[in-house]
Amino acid sequence: MSKKVLQGFFLTLVISFLNQACSNNNTNNMDVTVKLTSQAYGELEGQPITEYTLTNLHGMQIGIINYGGALTKIITQAKDSSWGDVLTGYDSLSGFMQTANPYFGALIGRYANRIAKGTYKIDGVQYHAALNNNGQSLHGGLKGFDKVVWTATPLAGDSSVQLNYESKDGEEGYPGNLKVQVVYTLTADNGIKIDYTATTDKTTVINLTNHAYFNLSAGKSLTIKDHILQINANQYSPVDTVLIPTGESLEVKGTPMDFTQAKRIGDDLDKVAGGYDHNWILNKAEGLQEVANLYDPLSGRSLTVLTTEPGLQFYSGNFLDGTLTHTKNGIQYIKHGALTLETQHFPDAPNQAKFPSTLLKPGETYTHTTVYKFATK
Ligand code: BGC
Repeated sequence: MSKKVLQGFFLTLVISFLNQACSNNNTNNMDVTVKLTSQAYGELEGQPITEYTLTNLHGMQIGIINYGGALTKIITQAKDSSWGDVLTGYDSLSGFMQTANPYFGALIGRYANRIAKGTYKIDGVQYHAALNNNGQSLHGGLKGFDKVVWTATPLAGDSSVQLNYESKDGEEGYPGNLKVQVVYTLTADNGIKIDYTATTDKTTVINLTNHAYFNLSAGKSLTIKDHILQINANQYSPVDTVLIPTGESLEVKGTPMDFTQAKRIGDDLDKVAGGYDHNWILNKAEGLQEVANLYDPLSGRSLTVLTTEPGLQFYSGNFLDGTLTHTKNGIQYIKHGALTLETQHFPDAPNQAKFPSTLLKPGETYTHTTVYKFATK
């Protein structure tokens, strides 16, 4: 056998090995076959903002910036093999920095969703988180983790980007110096895995999530009303007029909140005052489990959500009104133009004794893993 033939043989072997690694149905892999590139994305207060682009062997591509640790793009294939971006977003940093930016793609902390009147007690001491939403504290306050510059480090293997942020004691009214780490990984099976960890030096409350808005049609449908959603939850948390949970856990059965069987989102949307913006109490045990499935019949794209968290905020983009600027390709994100599936602890848990605790004490480590996995069917 000539040297060339031998070389060709080995190359074929390597390619078939890589292909096998890719089709391996496993969300926990370090995908050595992902390509990572980085490009300048702007500057904020003298700090460079960089976009990291990860592309796997299937061609799926995601972007992450160190401003707010936000996802900038999720490019996946439709059933007809065409490519499209299923994430709402902007064409530049100016988009992310506009006041009305409704947390597109961003990391949310120190406390995802609302704390009633921003007030809560830890060991008898009252704390006041910054108010920014109808007299309530939403998504960490005035300058939450979505508006800070994170330190980004691409990890060995090129399939992950690690983001770090140190939130100072007292920041936005939260006690304790909190060290937060978030690792985004693009997996070989078209998943975006997000691993969160945090530690504190004083007892604090914590609830981290990602605020990606999806429209699986990638711009073909103006709203998500035709998307089909299924959530593994028999109960949800009802809310008052300012979207603070009443503390009850109600059965979804026989109500518009019932997504135990896959259902077109538009079917019952008008029956819910203001639209869907609630916490679903997931039917799950400990560990990483599949909790929701979304499907867009038009493109054939599907999204499966797996998480270690006990709750899921399904928000049907009720406050989108088409007025955001610097959007990708000038798209107008209108009401219900996209939706979020935010894995989390329950809103206002610091004031609700019956909800799973969100306290983090010195010596403990907060952990949370969520996977958004894309496919077609
Ligand atoms: C909340 C909505 C809020 C939106 C902000 C969601 O997580 O549940 O009430 O308006 O974030 O864009």
